[in-house]
Amino acid sequence: MRAGRGTTPARDRAVVLGGSMGGLLAAYALADAYDQVTVIERDTVPDGPHPRKGVPQGRHTHALLAGGHLALEEMLPGITDELAAEGAPIGDTLGDSRLYFGGHRFVADHGGLSLVSVTRPRLEAAVRRRVAERPNVELGPPAEVVGLKVAEGGRRVTGARVLVRGDDEGGDEVALAADLVVDATGRGSQLPRWLDEMGVGAPAEEKVVVGITYATRRYRLDEDVLDGALACIEGPTPEAPRGGGLSRVEDGVWLATLGGYGDDAPPADPDGFEAFARTLPFPDIADALADGEPVDEPMRFRFPAGVRRRYDRMRHLPHGLMPVGDAVCSLNPLYGQGMSVAALQARTLRRELVERGRSTVAAARAVARVVEDAWRMSSAADLAMPGVVGRRTRADAVMGRYVARVQRAAATDPSVARAFMRVAGLVDRPTALLRPAVVATVLRR
Ligand SMILES: Cc1cc2nc3c(=O)[nH]c(=O)nc-3n(C[C@H](O)[C@H](O)[C@H](O)COP(=O)(O)OP(=O)(O)OC[C@H]3O[C@@H](n4cnc5c(N)ncnc54)[C@H](O)[C@@H]3O)c2cc1C
Repeated sequence: MRAGRGTTPARDRAVVLGGSMGGLLAAYALADAYDQVTVIERDTVPDGPHPRKGVPQGRHTHALLAGGHLALEEMLPGITDELAAEGAPIGDTLGDSRLYFGGHRFVADHGGLSLVSVTRPRLEAAVRRRVAERPNVELGPPAEVVGLKVAEGGRRVTGARVLVRGDDEGGDEVALAADLVVDATGRGSQLPRWLDEMGVGAPAEEKVVVGITYATRRYRLDEDVLDGALACIEGPTPEAPRGGGLSRVEDGVWLATLGGYGDDAPPADPDGFEAFARTLPFPDIADALADGEPVDEPMRFRFPAGVRRRYDRMRHLPHGLMPVGDAVCSLNPLYGQGMSVAALQARTLRRELVERGRSTVAAARAVARVVEDAWRMSSAADLAMPGVVGRRTRADAVMGRYVARVQRAAATDPSVARAFMRVAGLVDRPTALLRPAVVATVLRR
């Protein structure tokens, strides 16, 4: 048994609910702090890089931001090489992409920010493999979490109630005792309801209603279709609120994802999909697809709203409980932040629990706060779009006008383009855009 510190009495066992990116990365981090870590996932997990039911978004483009990649490589050294060996193209975000933000094409520059262009199922499979190698982590058989075990009048979580599927309907309910329960069950997490039923109260929720629809189709394209670039992103603007991305992934396949707000959904029929691409303000993606060989039909995904649950602000967050990933904050996928936030949270988890020996409550608050910059940036950008519903602040509006100037300057100045991509990539905090050298360059343009 590991000695507990602060208000954490013991570190015998952690149970992680949900075995997707958030849960797997948390489990990996916790393996340094707990004798035994058990991951409970309801899906039958495929043996390899294949889509699965519990992660329906897995077929869509999943960008790994530079900040998320740095955290991932720090925690799981060598994972980039493993992904490259499996065929994932690796490059430089600014140097090997065509990026259009705010209606401007960013100047190309090898600024040292990584670009790992990998499909979601392959990345998740690689992370799962590394987690499975930890001798004290158990990836259990498919099981459904149905509730928590609590003590001390709801002030402490002591485990989880789990339905283990049997041959017959229903299965057996099992109570798993744990010193720490991590909720990584994603956007549909039942934790707010469980906390309410425990008498602790659900966390406050912030919401930005984006009503955005994505459609993704896979293609085979010439390797040099973008003149050697690995990806092209055409971000939406308030004047043209449609966007798209095209990226080369493993096996010579390219993922094309298009998106539109409100009723402006990209069609799911092949002709409509390509016609929608043609309406983007820049022709790069449509031109690339024109001579392409489609691999499948377009698939759609509707994302109603970004949601942030303020566990960090709860007065009585129970001991022994740690929500992570989309269970804390489900971010508009447009900005490609979700997995990177999960990686940054796992790194924070390890730092707080292992290196600093903090209590689980303090660590849970720190983990929930990791999302702050990603949420502020994506919300502010979304709220600048027509029809998006949420709380608009003056500060966001002022910052939005400044960011528009940053994006204009990034079309010609590599140092500004780098500064913007470091912030958008969750490497630097947004205040980095207010450094005197950046401000001076932006205001000169
Ligand atoms: C269309 C789309 C595109 C996206 N693109 C990007 C992108 O480009 N870049 C990026 O970083 N992120 C992207 N995301 C977000 C990303 O998918 C999530 O942020 C990421 O998967 C977070 O992982 P998670 O583990 O917190 O939750 P999830 O991936 O949702 O996983 C939750 C897991 O919990 C399991 N589970 C749920 N309930 C139970 C239960 N009761 N019992 C047992 N198991 C349970 C599920 O089966 C699942 O495995 C995108 C999302 C969408 C919808």
